[in-house]
Amino acid sequence: MTTPATTLACTQCGGELHPDEGQIFLTCPYCGATVYVDKSQVVFHWSLTPTLDAAQAAAALRRWMSGSQTIKDLDKKATISGQAFQYFPLWYFKWRSPQGERIELEPAAATSVTELRRLALPAGDLKPYTADLEAQSEAPSVPLQAARQWLAQEHPGVELRENALVHVPIYLFKYTFQNQVYTAVVEAATGSVLANLFPSKPEAPYLLAGGLTALVYLCLAVVPLAGGAFGEGGGLLGGGIALALGLLAAPFLFAFAVWVASRI
Ligand SMILES: [Zn+2]
Repeated sequence: MTTPATTLACTQCGGELHPDEGQIFLTCPYCGATVYVDKSQVVFHWSLTPTLDAAQAAAALRRWMSGSQTIKDLDKKATISGQAFQYFPLWYFKWRSPQGERIELEPAAATSVTELRRLALPAGDLKPYTADLEAQSEAPSVPLQAARQWLAQEHPGVELRENALVHVPIYLFKYTFQNQVYTAVVEAATGSVLANLFPSKPEAPYLLAGGLTALVYLCLAVVPLAGGAFGEGGGLLGGGIALALGLLAAPFLFAFAVWVASRI
């Protein structure tokens, strides 16, 4: 089965384009727009220029590992086992909503890091895609039509203003922590780190600290009730004692919570 030779209209100037069979990256001979051909559709094709080199990307990953999202000292405990650079394809949708213009991204190729859709693309930094990036680019494997259907489900009734393909420069990292391999992406234009799964802070110690605090104050709340059993004066005295003890306990409980936070 062969695809018949197609004639498509340029997204920018409307000029006739005659892509060769199988050709997906195209530059309009009339206006110079770079476009992407997905079956019978032509969309703008953009790229972002990387500003981080491999060492700076690794440094960004280390900073994220030492931050508050991940477990303490992950930057020292984890071993980076792989680092690869590529231009990753994302479908770019722009539409108008009552709150203004909105942009949604959807990975245009298979990836374990679906967090890529959360990237904040600096619109002014989008550059026409050039052929010299092709060797490092992953071709889209998610059809535009499928991505559009997904968008229509997520946001019913939206009117699409712009639909484009963006190749985003990324460093794909593999790192090992406690015999488990994790994947993280450092976007090479802004240095933002994206990961779906990573060693995060365990919640149990926080729950313990919170539970202890609740227990202490519950006990203190019982004091005025117990005092109340000895008449109104007893209740008042009990309330005073509970208040005093509560104020006394607060700094200790706070210190304990801080200590827990510093340990994990
Ligand atoms: Zn054109």
